[in-house]
Amino acid sequence: MTTYDYDLFVIGGGSGGVRAARLAGAMGKKVALAEEYRMGGTCVIRGCVPKKLFVYASQFPEHFEAAAGFGWTVDETKFDWPTLIANKDKEIARLEGLYRSGLDNSDVEIVDSRAVLIDDHTIEILKTGKRVTADQILVATGGHPNPHAALPGHELCISSNEAFHLQELPKAIVIVGGGYIAVEFANIFHGLGVETTLIYRGKEILSRFDHDLRQLLHASMVDKGIHIRCVEMIREVKRQDDGRLAIQLSSGGELVADQVMLAIGRVPNTRSLGLEKAGVEVDEIGAIRVDEYSRTSKANIWAVGDVTNRVQLTPVAIHEAMCFLETVFKNNPTKPDHRQIPTAVFSQPEIGTVGLTEEEAAKEIKELEVYRALFRPMRNTLSGAKDKMLTKLIVDAASRKVVGAHILGPDAGEMAQLLGIPIKAGCTKDDFDRTMAVHPTASEELVTMYRPSYRIVNGTRID
Ligand code: FAD
Ligand code: NDP
Repeated sequence: MTTYDYDLFVIGGGSGGVRAARLAGAMGKKVALAEEYRMGGTCVIRGCVPKKLFVYASQFPEHFEAAAGFGWTVDETKFDWPTLIANKDKEIARLEGLYRSGLDNSDVEIVDSRAVLIDDHTIEILKTGKRVTADQILVATGGHPNPHAALPGHELCISSNEAFHLQELPKAIVIVGGGYIAVEFANIFHGLGVETTLIYRGKEILSRFDHDLRQLLHASMVDKGIHIRCVEMIREVKRQDDGRLAIQLSSGGELVADQVMLAIGRVPNTRSLGLEKAGVEVDEIGAIRVDEYSRTSKANIWAVGDVTNRVQLTPVAIHEAMCFLETVFKNNPTKPDHRQIPTAVFSQPEIGTVGLTEEEAAKEIKELEVYRALFRPMRNTLSGAKDKMLTKLIVDAASRKVVGAHILGPDAGEMAQLLGIPIKAGCTKDDFDRTMAVHPTASEELVTMYRPSYRIVNGTRID
């Protein structure tokens, strides 16, 4: 029998890789994990965590403004960008340390280097040139921001990576894209006092979300002073003599800003990884092709997380890693379940959503009932804030199952997490109706919308 240096070699120390390595190590397997940058990956180092810290920072001006209606006088306030960056960096370093100690405690050998495949069982550690072998290999190398190489002047633009380390807070920023990152960062920069313009190629931001959430969030962002230009693209970015950036738009207009941030999706990290030498297939955008169990075209090589371009979210990468572990080391073949994934957009107001959008449900289900409440949350009464809150349930009229829940408003992400449970469990609208409300809360609307706002029969809305 062939013997290998390791039972499992993991390439990539992000959400998926760390979870798989840690659990396999804790089972007594001989495991190594290679990370070329910083332990924790995108989520911890330059994604979810620092982003959420920035979101908190950017919310203070609204809190200060709201305070007056409740009797508080907030004297002159001042924001210091370097303090935020330094404190954020300290927290990220602390978390990185926890990731490393978690691996240590599970007896995982940490390899601080880029690693590439030489063949289907051999990995080269680039820092030392050493070659090691492994029985099973997990590729969890994530992705990187699409650099938009076709755009003249793209090298002058930043991505979310650089947004976390800007020396100075720009006075004006143009953000390109209409997805999660573009929308979240537009709200962050605006909240921090930056003149913010969002340029999106489609008709309405957040193309994969329910239309009500998209339109209401758009209106709310514009109301706060964020400029949103839909059906627009940027054609060129040039450095002016004064150091600022001139942005040519496809419609013919021009904008001037201190930074241009591209947020037009992420590209899987598969280049120069030796995949072809190992016999691992990738698709047309370079994502690793996997079967339902996350197995690649090579039987002993597996891939999880963003590198497979299924659903690019941290809990999904972690779930795929746990299923990999069940399948490979616990003799319990387990397919990751990508249905009904709750998700949030940390915009202001926030989006929380799970299940089918109204549009998706109308295509799939013969008759729907749509329950919809648009109201002013209580905290906005005395504060005078204009933001409205939306709660919306999509119900399959025949089975009575709630197939989608969509929220816009404070703490919508927290609500989406909890709504994910009844929707995953297949609860019906009657279960929601039977549930006692918690009063006074905004989420009580979810159990007190007794009459459908409208129906959709064979794709046609009936009021
Ligand atoms: P990653 O976390 O990207 O980890 C891959 C690791 O592999 C990296 O550390 C990389 O350095 C390393 N690597 C790559 N190649 C090699 C190699 N050859 N050798 C060694 N190491 C290598 N998701 C959410 O669920 N909620 C959020 O709020 C959220 N916010 C986000 C905000 C931003 C700005 C971004 C960019 C992403 C956000 N995401 C969010 C998405 C989330 O970060 C990713 O889905 C998640 O990190 C994917 O995990 P992963 O393990 O697949 O890859
Ligand atoms: P998204 O896929 O969310 O959005 C990409 C945006 O860029 C879309 O609006 C897309 O338009 C647009 N776009 C794509 N190509 C071009 C192009 N060539 N020119 C102009 N516009 C273009 O990706 P993000 O980069 O925002 O984020 C990456 C992933 O990270 C997300 O998909 C998400 O899974 C994850 N993430 C999750 C967060 C969360 O959970 N809160 C937060 C941040 C990121 P169109 O819609 O028309 O295709």
